[in-house]
Amino acid sequence: MTTLATETTIDPALQSAYDEVLRRNPGEHEFHQAVEEVLGSLGPVVRRHPHYLEASVIERLCEPERQIIFRVPWTDDAGQVQINRGFRVEYSSVLGPYKGGLRFHPSVMLGTVKFLGFEQIFKNALTGMPIGGGKGGSDFDPKGRSDAEVMRFCQSFMTELYRHLGEYTDVPAGDIGVGGREIGYLFGQYKRITNRYEAGVLTGKGLAWGGSRARTEATGFGTVYFAREMARHAGLSLEGTRVVVSGSGNVAIYAIAKVTELGGTVVACSDSSGYVVDEAGIDLELLREVKEERRERISAYAARRPGATFVAAGSIWDVPCDVALPCATQNELDEAAARQLVSHGLEIVAEGANMPCTPGAVRVFREAGVLFGPGKAANAGGVATSALEMQQNASRDSWTFEHTDARLGQIMTSIHERVVTTAEDYGRPGDYVFGANASGFTQVADAMLAMGVI
Ligand code: NAP
Repeated sequence: MTTLATETTIDPALQSAYDEVLRRNPGEHEFHQAVEEVLGSLGPVVRRHPHYLEASVIERLCEPERQIIFRVPWTDDAGQVQINRGFRVEYSSVLGPYKGGLRFHPSVMLGTVKFLGFEQIFKNALTGMPIGGGKGGSDFDPKGRSDAEVMRFCQSFMTELYRHLGEYTDVPAGDIGVGGREIGYLFGQYKRITNRYEAGVLTGKGLAWGGSRARTEATGFGTVYFAREMARHAGLSLEGTRVVVSGSGNVAIYAIAKVTELGGTVVACSDSSGYVVDEAGIDLELLREVKEERRERISAYAARRPGATFVAAGSIWDVPCDVALPCATQNELDEAAARQLVSHGLEIVAEGANMPCTPGAVRVFREAGVLFGPGKAANAGGVATSALEMQQNASRDSWTFEHTDARLGQIMTSIHERVVTTAEDYGRPGDYVFGANASGFTQVADAMLAMGVI
């Protein structure tokens, strides 16, 4: 295993840009973390290309093009008026319309949406597709709400947001708490208000009304395709490995499916109430029944599966594995968890979620020589397949599952190639964090420079 240098400090040439981010965005810790992670990689890039500094590209990129915050009033089943807050951060449109998901979770704040939007710019650039970066959401919690309540919330949310959207302007999709049901209600309201069947305005739609085959599976499948490329590149294989996947939502379920198909065994998965260990390998059919159909807690899986155990306290990262795929949420895997994983012989981490590993955890992985695939590269398959959905909508076409999945596989391979090549070009072989940040940034920065002071 090769140990990578731990460059976490920001180059002095970039420090003032970062200080300005801290001053202008007080209290937005996740946003600070995401910016620090990217700027921490860019020292060698601006030393080689000082014109990025001269044109203040970094300062410009740290400021979103537009930030929208709005009230979302709706009525619950008891007739009580509820108020939530809605957000859309239209971060960068230099490569195409703003593109990125909506998150409905009580923890959502402006800083959460900004961190996700900032990450999305570089992720979308890495796909090589014509999409800019944006993200949105609300502090609404769909858990425990009836379908009728979720529908009324989505309708109210879209009644404000629709004026900012359009297939050439801003194209949201799902994220935590926003799946096929929510996209259906959001699209229905958009269509109603605008009197237009503008299929390309939202992605993650149902197959009967403009959705793409393989979009549901894309983020989880793509993460595993990326992990497979990482393994291949290092002369390893996912076949026969022991894998832990955190979460049990959209990304986690399809990561589990793909790992199993490729001959790995997923021995644990989780939700916010705890985790299950199933040494025989997670039974996907049962997991989908519990989480997707019945919307139950993960303990219901262990209750129905002989040999499986549910652990309410502790961390899923205590479970020994060769490959870790964090697919739940940001900062779910900290330094202590990383040390525990390394002590158990961990070889590969690929982030299915956005920023699930803390900076301390990433440092531990790098020092231990664990292969680490950051989310902006590893989980880009979801947004890439959203762009494929937009292509199908624009051409009034519908591709087969096999064709779309094959395109997804090619895109993940080419992202891997791009990241590896960039890292090698800068004399940092195997440094996926550097390769992803430098490559994504360069593409966005060059487009910005070509367009003048924007
Ligand atoms: P999801 O379907 O809503 O599932 C989220 C899963 O993570 C659930 O099992 C949830 O458990 C768990 N979780 C959420 N917050 C948690 C917390 N604070 N602590 C512990 N567990 C928590 O969402 P998803 O679409 O799979 O998204 C998962 C991650 O992937 C997010 O970081 C998202 O930004 C990222 N991502 C998603 C896509 C996509 O296409 N969907 C694309 C790229 C990246 P509970 O049910 O108990 O809350």
